[in-house]
This record gives sequence, C-alpha cells and structure tokens, in this order.
Amino acid sequence: MDGFTNALVLNNVDADAGDHEDFETKLESMLQVKRVSQITFLHSEALDRVPRIAHAFSTRRAERNEFTLGAASGNPVVQMNRIRFLSAIGTAGWPLLKLKQTHSAIVSDMESTLAATEPVEADAAVTRLQGAVLGIQTADCVPILVADSEARAVAAIHAGWRGTAARIAESTVSRLFSDFGIDPKDLTVSIGPHIGVCCYEVGEEVVEAIADPAAFERREEWPRAHLNLAQANRRQLLNAGLRDQQIEISSLCTQCREDLFYSYRRDGEKAGRMLSVIGIVS
Ligand SMILES: [Zn+2]
Repeated sequence: MDGFTNALVLNNVDADAGDHEDFETKLESMLQVKRVSQITFLHSEALDRVPRIAHAFSTRRAERNEFTLGAASGNPVVQMNRIRFLSAIGTAGWPLLKLKQTHSAIVSDMESTLAATEPVEADAAVTRLQGAVLGIQTADCVPILVADSEARAVAAIHAGWRGTAARIAESTVSRLFSDFGIDPKDLTVSIGPHIGVCCYEVGEEVVEAIADPAAFERREEWPRAHLNLAQANRRQLLNAGLRDQQIEISSLCTQCREDLFYSYRRDGEKAGRMLSVIGIVS
C-alpha cells in the first residue's frame, strides 16, 4: 500500500515538474520530496526539526532522469552535478567530505576538511565541523544520516549487508559518545532509501553473517530469505541505546522505484549513485 500512496504523490510531482517552480510535496509521514532548481531530492521531517542541520538524500532526477552523484564512474558530469545538488539543498560551496567506501566497519572522525580533496577510507564518518557536509554514496545500500539534537555533531553511515553484519551503525553511535560525549538518547536518525525487503533476496551466508533472524523475511513464494536492511539497522540502533521515536525509516525501494533511484541490483555495473549528505550550519 505504501508504494501505491508514494506513486500517487510522485505522479503529482511529475505533473508539476515542467513549471520550473520550487515546491515541496509530502511523500509519507517521514520523507518529503522537494524540487529546487529542477533537482529532486528527499528531506527527512525528523532531521528538519533539528536546528542548524542541513541534509538531503539525492535522487536520479533533475532535468532528465539521470543525475548521478557517484565518483566511481569517473564521469566529469558528476563534479558539476555535485555542485548543483549542494546548491539546491542550501549548502552551496560547502566542502563535501568524501569516503572511499569498501563495505568495511571503519568509522572516521573528520576533524578537518582534507577529505574534501582526498577521500578517507571508511564507511561511516562523524564530525563536529561546521559548514561542511559528510557524503555517502549508495545504489541499494542504506544511507543513514544522524544528528545530535544540539547540532554538536553529525554522522553519515553506508550500510550494505556487509556493513550491517559488521554492525557499523552501532559503532557509529558509540563513536559519537566516545569522541564527543553525545548521549544516544539525544540523536535523531533517518534511514534513507535503500533496496526494500520486497527485492533483496540473499543467500544463507548473509543470514549467518548478520546473525539476527528478525532482520529477515521468508515467504512461501520466495525461494530464499529476503533481508530487511532497515530493520537490521534499526535493531542495532535500539541496541545502541536509541528509542524507536528517534528513528525514521524510508519505505521507498531503490530497485522498485526506477523513476527515482539507481539500483545496483537492477542496473548492474553501469548503475549511477545517489549521494546522501548531512552537515552543521555554522
Ligand atoms: Zn522492491
């Protein structure tokens, strides 16, 4: 039913896309679709309520249905797309702190803007820097954005099945506490668009690695288990001391919603990348 509701709202977005006006549309209780300067992105209502936090989840949609923000392709258009995206979401000119993502459990504490020129090998980052954004690239994996209620620090996490198995979300919450003294109870978390349980069939090696039966769904019509990445990460966040009301979960599936997202499972090696960013306003 969620998919149906979302489709209706996004049809409205489609219908309005030609008038070049900035607008925002409510997508569901949690994520809002916005279009600014012809660039469509998603905003978290929960993160919007935290003062002095800038954030967004990108989509593939701009003038055309092609707006990759991934560097892996070596596409010179990517640099320009990133500049346009940061400008559309209100962070024009902010350094974009980049990660060299390897599906690891590494959490980097970004104390300078060096990562804007030389990506740091990690799959999550925390920072107290103001006027800079952390960026995570995905095309099915979960982007998770985290903010402290006082805007003392933010975090961004890339969690595919390997990162989830390595409990990277839990480690990131621990780092916010150990590095900055931030209580998990003061955090707001948005789990962004990712491949849904509808499409994410996995092998038994994944079931074993994640070691949390509640993160999987099995149905008669499915030959193998399906992984619910959002649930798996939600359960880690609860384990790390958060409560459910602090965690917002996107129900949009990157593989089902070809109109909005890139999907590695659907598109293979040629898949573009979405960028999810968060930063503190100085
Ligand atoms: Zn799906």
